[in-house]
Amino acid sequence: MAAIIDGKEIAGVMRRELAEKVSEMKAKGVTPGLAVILVGDDPASASYVKSKEKSCEEMGMYSRDIRLSADTEEKELLGLIEELNKDEKIDGILVQLPLPSHMDEEKVILAIHPDKDVDGFHPLNVGKMLLEQETFLPCTPHGILKLLEYSKIPVKGKKVVVIGRSNIVGKPLSSLFIQKKAWGNATVTVCHTATQDLKKECLEADILVAAAGRPEMITGDMIKEGAVVIDVGVNRVEDSSRKRGYRLTGDVNFQQAEAKASHITPVPGGVGPMTITMLLFNTVESAQRRLEKRING
Ligand code: NAD
Repeated sequence: MAAIIDGKEIAGVMRRELAEKVSEMKAKGVTPGLAVILVGDDPASASYVKSKEKSCEEMGMYSRDIRLSADTEEKELLGLIEELNKDEKIDGILVQLPLPSHMDEEKVILAIHPDKDVDGFHPLNVGKMLLEQETFLPCTPHGILKLLEYSKIPVKGKKVVVIGRSNIVGKPLSSLFIQKKAWGNATVTVCHTATQDLKKECLEADILVAAAGRPEMITGDMIKEGAVVIDVGVNRVEDSSRKRGYRLTGDVNFQQAEAKASHITPVPGGVGPMTITMLLFNTVESAQRRLEKRING
């Protein structure tokens, strides 16, 4: 039976470490600040934004919550980002995606100053990540690396299979896993919708990361005995026995996988809590740079 990689617990440890850092920085006159912009009223996005703000407050950080109506013009959002780019109290700017269809996401991400791009989505920061230069690592991939690190699971020399090639999970995560760094040095295979024999690829994995957004697509027969399974998927599946009419499930059939894997992340309570924690981590990192600039002039 697999050991559970408890994302809530690991996130809690990291947040306590971060909170200490925040209070030391506050004593030196710098309070890390995060601005979160939500355009429209999508309930899932609103709930993500709310938990980001709550987490900021719990850490003693400054948070600015900006809600814009779904019909806001793009130029108004760009103007607001420009204002936040110049705001001394703000170290990180997060625009909750997806944006309404009349807005150009690429243009909006480009408008965020790379030094305040705590999501790590700005093309300049994506390039720096690929070149292994200092930058903000994107939150979900970074959180997964931290889950492995805190669980003392070695990555070097392992065969890692990542399912999914999105810009926010699969692509950055696979590129981090190949880096010759403490978190990487693995041999990586990336699977996607054109992969011919997914089961065969998965069975090769010492570490299997599922980020496809397909409920329970990874079944027990696709997992090598003793593999580490990281389930990134968050899927709503209809469930009339629940009051809200649905339940959340990952991309992995947990019951079947648990019998084969050595370690596994649950959904919820695995990767999810780490994503927000890494956002806080990046914001504190950004504020630290502001503090150093102030000290060094
Ligand atoms: P996406 O839809 O942008 O990308 C999914 C990827 O999976 C695609 O690249 C596609 O090629 C691949 N894919 C889809 N079906 C496949 C199949 N049958 N076989 C092989 N590959 C397949 O999704 P995303 O934004 O990367 O998110 C993936 C999942 O992770 C979603 O469920 C999302 O909700 C979840 N997610 C969770 C967190 C978190 O913090 N827990 C963060 C980001 C995303």
